[in-house]
Amino acid sequence: MKIETIAIHAGNHTDESSKAVIQPIVLSTTFVREADGSFPAGYIYSRSSNPNRTSLENVLAKLEGGVDAAAFASGNAAGMTVFQTLKPGTHVICPDDMYHGLRNQLKNLFAGILDFDFIDVNNETVLIDHIKPNTGLIWIETPSNPLLKITDIKKIVKIAREHKIKVACDNTFATPIGQQPLALGADLVMHSSTKYFGGHSDLMGGALITPEKNEWWAKIRQVQEMGGAIPSPMDCYFLARSIKTLPYRIRGHVHNAQLLAEFLEKHPKIEKVMYPGLLSHPQHQIAKDQMLNFGGMLSFCVKGGQDEAKRLINGLKLFTQATSLGGVESLIEHRASVEGPDTKTPLNLLRASVGLEHIDDLVADIMQALN
Ligand SMILES: *Cc1c(COP(=O)(O)O)cnc(C)c1O
Repeated sequence: MKIETIAIHAGNHTDESSKAVIQPIVLSTTFVREADGSFPAGYIYSRSSNPNRTSLENVLAKLEGGVDAAAFASGNAAGMTVFQTLKPGTHVICPDDMYHGLRNQLKNLFAGILDFDFIDVNNETVLIDHIKPNTGLIWIETPSNPLLKITDIKKIVKIAREHKIKVACDNTFATPIGQQPLALGADLVMHSSTKYFGGHSDLMGGALITPEKNEWWAKIRQVQEMGGAIPSPMDCYFLARSIKTLPYRIRGHVHNAQLLAEFLEKHPKIEKVMYPGLLSHPQHQIAKDQMLNFGGMLSFCVKGGQDEAKRLINGLKLFTQATSLGGVESLIEHRASVEGPDTKTPLNLLRASVGLEHIDDLVADIMQALN
């Protein structure tokens, strides 16, 4: 089946007892044991599994072309689960432009437990130079946050395989509608489903998706169940509901982002636009080869430094100044302020999550703020 069909059907099933077309929300934390000790529906206790979570995990796995998915309470909980499955002392190679929340997790919570380097993973020589006998994982994020750098997934996978290293890919920015890392050889996909999957800026979630039920996956399931950083049945329900429109929402985001990027690139007050769909993007060709579309996120640098960037952002009326991304409404933020004092993000950079408003209204808003 095609992805639009999967999105609608793989996370729902008709309830046999009520014949409700839409799967009900099962709030019960516990399930009846039969006289013979068995659990006929396979559910025992909701931390281990819940019907709404099962449906959500099913649609997540199918969208990414995987065999199984595990849903979490947040993207960071999903990321943390990956790091918790690694043997203490394992070396992890991470990109230099990485979601700051996960970078801080490694630096603050895993210091002394895991060994890690933040490097330009796209530079083959640098990458190979950093591989050590204890390297167990290469973490990639593409397009990256907030510089929209593209990582060549196939190239990383090839190098990793030669050294028997696993590759995990944060696919939050692209979504499976824009990029299928498992098909390109990745060993694991990670998502913050708070973003495009949720799509309405009203729920938090995370996910991991595997191409095979291997030993690593069994450990991931163990951390999910024993650690308990699981999403509630309500969150699973709303996420499965939002996912039904994901393919169509992404089309709208991509359409608007491309036009906005082209508009900004021509504007004399803009220094630089970072969007993989622009010919000027240094990795446009790699993006074209590995992505199905260029996504709905873009960053741009405003001429005149931080003050001009802040003046622009404060003059916007339709774009909301807020962190996060992937919702139907357009959001914009001064990224360096969010990332704190040790950020490497340019001070005149603004990151936009281009929403589903009409593109003419979005362009008009930026024009009035620039003027
Ligand atoms: C938001 C985000 C995360 C973290 O997800 P939460 O749901 O906020 O915990 C991880 N990676 C990327 C790329 C993100 O944008």
